[in-house]
Amino acid sequence: MKKEPEDANKRREVSPVICYPSSRLKRPNLKIYRSIREGAKKVDEIIINPRDAKCFRVRAGQFFRITSIEGPQVGDLNLWNLDNLSEKFYSGKTRALHGSHMDEGDQMWSCFPYLRPMATVFEDTLKWYGVDKFGGSVHDVIGTRCDPYTNKLLEGNNYHHCCHSNLARALAAEIALPILEAESLIHDVLNVFMCTGFTRDTGQYFMKASPVRPGDYIEFFAEIDLLGALSACPGGDCSTKHSSDSAKCYPLLVEIFLNEQSVLNITNEVNGYNRKHGLQ
Ligand SMILES: [Zn+2]
Repeated sequence: MKKEPEDANKRREVSPVICYPSSRLKRPNLKIYRSIREGAKKVDEIIINPRDAKCFRVRAGQFFRITSIEGPQVGDLNLWNLDNLSEKFYSGKTRALHGSHMDEGDQMWSCFPYLRPMATVFEDTLKWYGVDKFGGSVHDVIGTRCDPYTNKLLEGNNYHHCCHSNLARALAAEIALPILEAESLIHDVLNVFMCTGFTRDTGQYFMKASPVRPGDYIEFFAEIDLLGALSACPGGDCSTKHSSDSAKCYPLLVEIFLNEQSVLNITNEVNGYNRKHGLQ
């Protein structure tokens, strides 16, 4: 093992620089969204059963709200462009732009080459939680989704109700695709209500009991026409285990709101990079 250089501590003390300063991001005007939301009425609702997932459709300019209804429950959210499923939520870049956990005004960005806002976090009743003493916070974009492959690797058994499988089944049913084709469209999620962080000493991804209570919700403004899928995670409140039937699980509610009087003209163009990548 190489010896530390003499100036090791000096190097450790160098201050970090934010990779993507958020001051350069055009932020959404939540005041305008609020004025639209005031005149909005509920047009649809979907109940997501425990250890299962369902799809829902939201038009640009509508709002969708995810609510905990019977007990503490975490949800795994996927989003696609309704007209082009290859444009899907990009958890990694969203994390790079907004940080590890989503807050009001943060946006869910789509993958390359589109890279545009798909949805904006409009209201969050768990905003009070902030960051706890372990570095934990809610609504992360650091986890991936519980899945049967990692479960097989670590536990050795076949479990079929991980969020990955739930989302794949829901998408397959929604757009009449064979399950393996639908599976290929499932992507890293926004972990709704989940309380997570990284341990300071080993840098490991941790979860702890979600602070969510029935009635808590997170609401989004749809920036483009969306197909969403939400899984009620088999981990329940994620205080103990996921990827099994051992945790107590509850349903989640998705509601869609529309203001028919709104004249807001929403245009979210896809990213403007010319895609030459250094070639002519
Ligand atoms: Zn899960």
